[in-house]
Amino acid sequence: MAATSQLRTAFARRLEGKVALITGGASGVGEVTAKLFSHHGAKVAIADVQDELGHSVVEAIGPSNSTYIHCDVTNEDGVKNAVDNTVSTYGKLDIMFNNAGISDPYKPRVIDNEKADFERVLSVNVTGVFLFMKHAARIMVPARSGCIISTASLSSTMGGGSSHAYCGAKHAVLGLTRNLAVELGQFGIRVNCLSPFGLPTPLAKKFSGIENDVDFANAIEHAGILKGTKLRIEDVANAALFLASDEAQYVSGQNLFIDGGFSVCNSAIKMFQYPDS
Ligand code: NAD
Repeated sequence: MAATSQLRTAFARRLEGKVALITGGASGVGEVTAKLFSHHGAKVAIADVQDELGHSVVEAIGPSNSTYIHCDVTNEDGVKNAVDNTVSTYGKLDIMFNNAGISDPYKPRVIDNEKADFERVLSVNVTGVFLFMKHAARIMVPARSGCIISTASLSSTMGGGSSHAYCGAKHAVLGLTRNLAVELGQFGIRVNCLSPFGLPTPLAKKFSGIENDVDFANAIEHAGILKGTKLRIEDVANAALFLASDEAQYVSGQNLFIDGGFSVCNSAIKMFQYPDS
């Protein structure tokens, strides 16, 4: 009986004793993941530029288990400081979650796209990921352990679902993930990324113009392959939890899709239409 309850506790707290640093943790995927990681026993440092929201996430989690650090992911000094601050506060860094991201305004014609918007998206979504990979590796390589997760997107492998800047950036996140998984594997460090379908967060609501959460979730279900269920931000946080946990101890170099099968379907080919549906 005691062994069963020990097992239950271990399963319930899948990140016990771990330290995680989450970028973009003040909102959306990062916020929900920070709360979930903490629920599973991790100490969580949140790095973001939205200070008020970031502090409110720390309040919700409990200041003894989390901290907020103002950090613009495009600024290397700030990135170095966020990593060093996490290590000095909690003694180590086990999980680096590169999740901060932005999109540019929706402009369907490439000729209308501005260079400044393109560079801004690449700066946050690619350079920011690269910088945190670099500074997390600075800590993880000597420790010979760690796990790096980045939020990519369906746009990491598909065209036509986002702006050119966002699509190019997310392809780059997958490339960085694969390259770093190869480099850091020799030190026992795992590197993966996550690719969710559309989620009703400020980023996607602004891009799509659909402000209402229910309308957004319905639109995604309508466009999707998997029916009868709606994608939640919690589903992405649960995928991050899996990749961060020891249950994924041999998973590296992977792009985990949370998309109900959308990315494997060629919607132009209608093979499986049931006559009565
Ligand atoms: P969000 O807007 O709720 O969260 C993004 C967070 O990143 C915000 O808290 C924002 O302040 C932070 N951020 C932006 N620029 C930053 C910078 N320079 N430095 C530090 N922090 C910065 O949106 P979200 O949907 O939760 O986005 C999280 C990640 O998920 C992004 O990488 C996004 O590309 C990815 N994603 C989102 C969707 C979706 O449909 N929402 C789908 C696939 C992938």
